[in-house]
Amino acid sequence: MTTVQANTFESLNPATDEVVGVHPVHSAEDVRAAVAAAGPAADWWAGLGFAGRAERLTRWKGVLTRRAQQLAEVVHAETGKPHGDAMLEIVLAIDHTAWAARNARKVLGAKRRPSGLLMANQAATVEYQPLGVVGVIGPWNYPVFTPMGSIAYALAAGNAVVFKPSEYTPGVGRWLADSFAEAVPEHPVLQVVTGFGETGAALCRSGVAKIAFTGSPGTGRKIMAACADTLTPVLIEAGGKDALLVDADADLAAAAEAAAWGAMSNAGQTCTGVERVYVHERVYDSFLTHLTDQATGLRVGFDGDAQIGPITMPGQIDIIRRHIADALSRGARALIGGPVPEGERYVQPTVLVDVPEDSSAVREETFGPTITVTKVRDMDQAVELANATAYGLGGTVFAKARGMELARKLRAGMVSVNSVISFAGIPSLPFGGVGESGFGRIHGPEGLREFGRAKAITRQRFKAPLNMTTFARTPTVDAQVAKLITLLHGKRT
Ligand code: NAD
Repeated sequence: MTTVQANTFESLNPATDEVVGVHPVHSAEDVRAAVAAAGPAADWWAGLGFAGRAERLTRWKGVLTRRAQQLAEVVHAETGKPHGDAMLEIVLAIDHTAWAARNARKVLGAKRRPSGLLMANQAATVEYQPLGVVGVIGPWNYPVFTPMGSIAYALAAGNAVVFKPSEYTPGVGRWLADSFAEAVPEHPVLQVVTGFGETGAALCRSGVAKIAFTGSPGTGRKIMAACADTLTPVLIEAGGKDALLVDADADLAAAAEAAAWGAMSNAGQTCTGVERVYVHERVYDSFLTHLTDQATGLRVGFDGDAQIGPITMPGQIDIIRRHIADALSRGARALIGGPVPEGERYVQPTVLVDVPEDSSAVREETFGPTITVTKVRDMDQAVELANATAYGLGGTVFAKARGMELARKLRAGMVSVNSVISFAGIPSLPFGGVGESGFGRIHGPEGLREFGRAKAITRQRFKAPLNMTTFARTPTVDAQVAKLITLLHGKRT
């Protein structure tokens, strides 16, 4: 890619403010140049076919696996998350890459479809062809796992990718593109452009075949508006306000462990993190005891023993502080944690009870290590309250008898029963939400298809006895077709 700008920006360690790296602010012109260079790379990559791409993606997977510790260091430095959490997202991303490479042909390759009686002389096939150059815009909270859910699947489907990482994690984006170039040096099949919102907006207007965006709903709206100019299709993976339901027959210790980890790991900065819990009144007190036991011992910090790192994005602290303060001022109680002092980089694990349902801590994405716990009279009320949100990303149910039933009733794209966020680690499952959480799916066959264009092809196998697609069609043919249709579909019901 040709870079013609002089502008740069720094990525900072959120625990120490040390400079982690200096990166270019890519201009609209740079972005267009990257997309232009990606065009021939996309043709070459598509021409390799499924087997050629799978072989090269496997090579990349090898590089990612061998250098995972090094990548985890960059993630740790730029996000502040504990090393173990960084490794976890890398391991999952590697598994997804392997799955996408292995399954692309099966999902996207040519397949026969039934041609029906009227066109019985045709062999009908469908195949998913690559889109061309795909733009991926990513967030900072899972700077490897999240964009790789689009990048690996788009590459496996035969596309070139131009990736714009978050301005908080440009080093991670750069690392991913460099490691790919090491495995696939021939053409710039995966490029990275760095910068702020303007660079992302330029990518939307650069003529890419699709934008796969992960980030906040507000930015999602801007992306859609920018993409509307050129009718560029978009996939939006936005935020969430996920709920965990605890039924009276649930394993309470397991539910509390899942709630604590789901809410507080990665300092709560997880799109599918647990932000709200609805507990059957019969087990409410007991669940709270388990949960506070689980969460009390968690330690914040940046050293090797800390389980909760700093809040990555400085502005997020204000939102977390506001949500906690709003809840407390309206009658809520903090069983552990509480108000966040000014100037803090860390938020202590916080369990809030008696929180009004219309408070910001219940309605808006908090993105901190906080959780609200609410008593419900039965699980119908739990479902009703859980679904009373504009978001609809993931969900969790702890129950013995009614687990699957409750999972189906949650208005969410993904639900785990008796575990938390497991759906994200299963590459064959689609990932995505409804409502303010976005639309479209990454991961799984659905994720591969997002990055392909369904192409229908018919091949005539023999001359049709009733040829309908000709001016030579006779009234007899019309009458026979009408008769056939009546036979096929004209039965009285
Ligand atoms: P964000 O929306 O602020 O930024 C996301 C990306 O969009 C960044 O790369 C940013 O530079 C870019 N951007 C900003 N303005 C833009 C514009 N006008 N045009 C194009 N690009 C623009 O989000 P964030 O703070 O980085 O990430 C946190 C959010 O992401 C949370 O809401 C979280 O829930 C969500 N998230 C969702 C998923 C999911 O899969 N559904 C996964 C991780 C994070």
